[in-house]
Amino acid sequence: MSTNSLWAIPLGGLGEFGMNMMVLRYGDEIIVIDAGLMFPEQELLGVDIVIPDITYLKQNKSKVRAIVLTHAHEDHIGAIPYILPELNVPIYGTEFTLAIVRKKLEEHGLLDSADLREVAAGQKSTIGAFHIEYLHVTHSTIDCVALAVRTPVGVIIHTGDFKIDPTPVDGKPFDLHAFARYGQEGVLALFSDSTNVERPGFTPSERAVVVRLEELFRAAPRKVVVSCFSSSVHRIQQVIDIAQMVGRKVGIVGRSMVDNIEIAHGLGKLRIPDGSVVRPQDIKSYDPKRLVVLASGTQAEPMSALSRIAVDNHRLLSLNETDTVILSARIIPGNEKAIFRMIDHLFRRRVLVYYEGGRSAPIHVSGHASQEEMKILLQLVKPKYFVPLHGEYRQLFRHAALAEQVGAVSGQIFLMETGHPIEFTADGAAHMREAVSAGRVMVDSGSLEEIQDVVIRDRRHLAEDGVVVPIIAIDKHTGHIETSPEIVTRGFLPSEDGQELLGKAREVILKTMEQSTPEEMTDWSVIKEKIRVDLKRFLNKQTSKRPLILPVILEV
Ligand SMILES: [Zn+2]
Ligand SMILES: [Zn+2]
Repeated sequence: MSTNSLWAIPLGGLGEFGMNMMVLRYGDEIIVIDAGLMFPEQELLGVDIVIPDITYLKQNKSKVRAIVLTHAHEDHIGAIPYILPELNVPIYGTEFTLAIVRKKLEEHGLLDSADLREVAAGQKSTIGAFHIEYLHVTHSTIDCVALAVRTPVGVIIHTGDFKIDPTPVDGKPFDLHAFARYGQEGVLALFSDSTNVERPGFTPSERAVVVRLEELFRAAPRKVVVSCFSSSVHRIQQVIDIAQMVGRKVGIVGRSMVDNIEIAHGLGKLRIPDGSVVRPQDIKSYDPKRLVVLASGTQAEPMSALSRIAVDNHRLLSLNETDTVILSARIIPGNEKAIFRMIDHLFRRRVLVYYEGGRSAPIHVSGHASQEEMKILLQLVKPKYFVPLHGEYRQLFRHAALAEQVGAVSGQIFLMETGHPIEFTADGAAHMREAVSAGRVMVDSGSLEEIQDVVIRDRRHLAEDGVVVPIIAIDKHTGHIETSPEIVTRGFLPSEDGQELLGKAREVILKTMEQSTPEEMTDWSVIKEKIRVDLKRFLNKQTSKRPLILPVILEV
């Protein structure tokens, strides 16, 4: 490469939702902006998470100087525990972002070897040829920054995720001045969040949910369960504040919810009045008329608190007629089926359920900028080049069209694809002919092993550890198991103790079924996932093998 050129190489986050990662390279120096994960689609059976392929970074290991994070969402930090063992470089991030990263690294036993460097909005770091200023932006979580990266070729602004919230819950406004200052000075390229480009107007402030939440809290005949993302610190703060206002106490369920509230509170970024929280073990017996519960699991993830509560299988909380459940989160495309099935379970128990899509005041607002905010940012920054980021292809395309319409871009607008770099030089910018290796890596989080792609993963599992097919016959009228489950295996059991092991495996299945509620028993996708997870754990512990497990349910 020419020594005086800057490459921007996207390794994820384009044409897909999640696993954001952008590489900047100048000469022999590389920084990586964000390292996110993506949750797998349903057809990727057995895959726990998906992360960007970092082959390019491994090939250039000695050049990578740092990973710089914009904010604490999983689609920006979730891949860190999986890439750090291969690429142990310093990680820059704000206080809250690093606190969440620290927790993850601790869980993976990687914290001791990690080099975490805390930064704050308004501060600057110099990393090789890159001089970075952190600019405060508003979003659905706290402590979010955009990056202004000064390079020898010019200034690159990477927005991270943002909306322009004029009345942020934490009182810290979007730093429009900083963006304007760079705009005045001259910006080589703007890389910007495209998520909500299909929405006209402005995204409402996080505060917009207060009216409706307060109304629902006041009107609720019994207890209220609010489910939001556990990283939505603003929303959590508002629930705590409104609960206090209407004379209700707050219970917290779900591991990620408990963890994140603890972290944010520990950093002084969440105000929780003394005596306002109900201990977990007291939630069940607490006066339902005076209780609000914060629960994780808005996307109906199979093992999450809300999914369990919906089928009455949560040890701390059960719901009855006229309890209220508020889903204060977006229904992420791809999750509709699971979420609506969970909502159906709630309605079956005659719970009052509120979710996105009504015509009344909102119970959820997006954390991403709508068209007018995108226009404001373009006008302020007036970049020479513009690159839409963070979205599916149609969103990137429409963001490009919007920028064209605004007319604030003096040079070219680029639509990037994962793995295809753009080269910026003093003379101009252009797509580079050669792509770098890029793609998705499937991770089975239990094994910490990468899986190149699903087919290879399945083949390897089959080749090395075989396949296990538990067959469970359920009576379609009673929902009971008809006979003891059958287990068919191929290529899995070499020894004589096979029969004994299968006997125990049958007991595991029966136990899983026993511990399931009648509603779970009628929901095959839930029950299959539970059996798969439990059996995987059991077989791995007993044999250290990871066979492919494909539960089959027969209706008889
Ligand atoms: Zn994001
Ligand atoms: Zn985000």
